[in-house]
This record gives sequence, structure tokens and C-alpha cells, in this order.
Amino acid sequence: MLTDKLPRESLGFFPTPLHALERLSDALGGPRLFIKRDDQTGLALGGNKTRKLEFILADALERGADTIVTAGASQSNHCRQTAAAAAALGLECHLLLGGRAPDGSQGNLLLDQLFGSHFHWAGEHRKGEDLREVMRYLESAGRRPYLVPYGGSSELGTIAFVAALEELQRQWGGRGRPFTHIVFASSSGGTHAGLMLGARLLRMPTQIVGIGVDKDMPGERPYNAHIIELAGRASARLGRERRFGPEDLWLEEGYQGEGYGVVGPAEREAISLLARTEGILLDPVYTGRAMAGLLDMVRRGVFDADDRVLFWHTGGAPAIFAYADELQPE
Ligand SMILES: *Cc1c(COP(=O)(O)O)cnc(C)c1O
Repeated sequence: MLTDKLPRESLGFFPTPLHALERLSDALGGPRLFIKRDDQTGLALGGNKTRKLEFILADALERGADTIVTAGASQSNHCRQTAAAAAALGLECHLLLGGRAPDGSQGNLLLDQLFGSHFHWAGEHRKGEDLREVMRYLESAGRRPYLVPYGGSSELGTIAFVAALEELQRQWGGRGRPFTHIVFASSSGGTHAGLMLGARLLRMPTQIVGIGVDKDMPGERPYNAHIIELAGRASARLGRERRFGPEDLWLEEGYQGEGYGVVGPAEREAISLLARTEGILLDPVYTGRAMAGLLDMVRRGVFDADDRVLFWHTGGAPAIFAYADELQPE
């Protein structure tokens, strides 16, 4: 295995389930669709960040950290899974959240509270801008803080998705022809970079298709350059230097609607279609948008009839309750 030399803490239940979406495939009349259920990773209602945190927090423990710091939106799934993982490992958790403290808490924010994490509100500042200050404050208070980057998209977080493809290969093995495409929500880039790198290293004949959900990701670099760079850095960390260029990246940027976290008719349709045909929940911010993109690509004839397309469900369900108004039928 490519990834078994790295320290890893067990935080979730793997492999996550993998199954066909028979009724959705029939309803659409396009290629056969399958789903990888990272909404069922088992940690604190699941999600793709559990995979990343198994590698990242193992590194934190190795470095002697006693406190975990990370940042995100107030409904961040990454923050919720980090808060739960820190609790499970006996570590203190500090979250720098976007905006101001709301009157009540709901969805992911409510869960962050239950996991005993400490909140810092960024106010008007960009998400993550005050992270250095939080780190300095904790150090001066005698803590040993460890910074988990936005979305867990470090080299280790990326490598977690190389491990995820190793898991997929073992799981799918002799069950049939390999998948022609893997489609998923792409936001801070670690999932995308890791799947890209994994497919290359494992010689999988599979196109890695990210649906961009966030128009204005924080960072100096454009989002596509960031993913390419991350894949390169993670491959170096694995000792398998691979070069990536724009020609290696399939990122669909046409589905961002009114911006991050704004639910439109396309997301509502995707969420309701998967719920009604398969009894599976998608979230309003990430997987609802990614499924809306996949539905559109099927309807536009992007795939061949004999393609086998795997939708990688990255989680997010707790946010549904924070978006109750936006999800009401019209
Ligand atoms: C974080 C997240 C993503 C995006 O993964 P990245 O590695 O940040 O690109 C997709 N879906 C959900 C539900 C997430 O929480």
C-alpha cells in the first residue's frame, strides 16, 4: 500500500458502503450510477473529513499537540468532524468560525457545542484570517496547539484520499468493470487532489470529476492551481514525485449558482430526487450542488450509456436542519 507507512488514528468505520443507485439510474435513463457512502464514516454523523483527520490528527499526536485549531463557516462540516475527533482523542478543540455568533445554534454549530469545542468568531474578517492570532494566544497560555488547515486540505488530508482509492479498489475488486468517472463536491481541494493523485498512482482508468461548490475560496492562488499544487506536494510526501498540470484537472465550475451555501432550484431538485428515488439524504451546500451538477451532465449527454459513474457522497447532512426554510418545497 502507498499510505500504510504514515501514522493513522482510527476515527471512523471503513470501508464505507458502496452500492448501485438503481432507481435513480432508471429515472434518468443515462449511464449506471453508483454511490460511495462517506456520509456513513461513522464519526459524528459522518463525512469526508473523517478520512483526512485520521492522518492529520495522528500527526498532531506524534508532534505532542494537546490542542487542535481549525477554521470554517459556522455550518462547517469540517469543524464539526474535527471537534468530534478531538473529543475522541482527548484533545482540546478551538474553532475560528466565520461571521458573528448567531442567537441560537442549529445543525453543525449545535454539534460543535456538544463536543465541547471553544468558539472564536471572525466577524468581518475573512475565514481563517485570525488563525495566527488564536495560535499565538494558545501558545502564550501554555498550550501546544496544532493547526488543521481550512477543510483539512493539507498534504496529509490529500493523502487520505489516496488511501480512499486504495479502499475502493479492494472493495470493488472483482465486482465488475472499473468506474469510468468519480463525481464529487470540490471545495478546499484535498478530496479532489487526493483522488487525482490516487487514480494516477494506482493506474485507475477513471476520470476524476470535481464539481466546484465555492466561487471564492480563500487563498492567494486560483482554485484550480491550488488543487494541482496540492496533488504534487502530496505525491512528493509519499516519495512518488508526480507532476500535474491543468490538463490533468477536470473541475466543473458552472454549478456555483449564487455562491457558497446559497440554495437554488437545482440543489432543491437534486436533494429531492435522491431522497425520493433512493431514500438517501444530500446536504444543501456540497452534495446537493454536486448531485445537481451530475444530473445536468447526465441530461446533457456528457456520459456514454455504458459508462459507470460513481458519485462520492462526502456527507454534510447535519446542515439540512440549518437550511430548513430554504429546503421547503415551493
Ligand atoms: C468539506 C466537504 C466537501 C469538500 O471537500 P474538500 O476536500 O474540502 O474539497 C464536500 N462535501 C462536504 C459535505 C464537505 O463537508
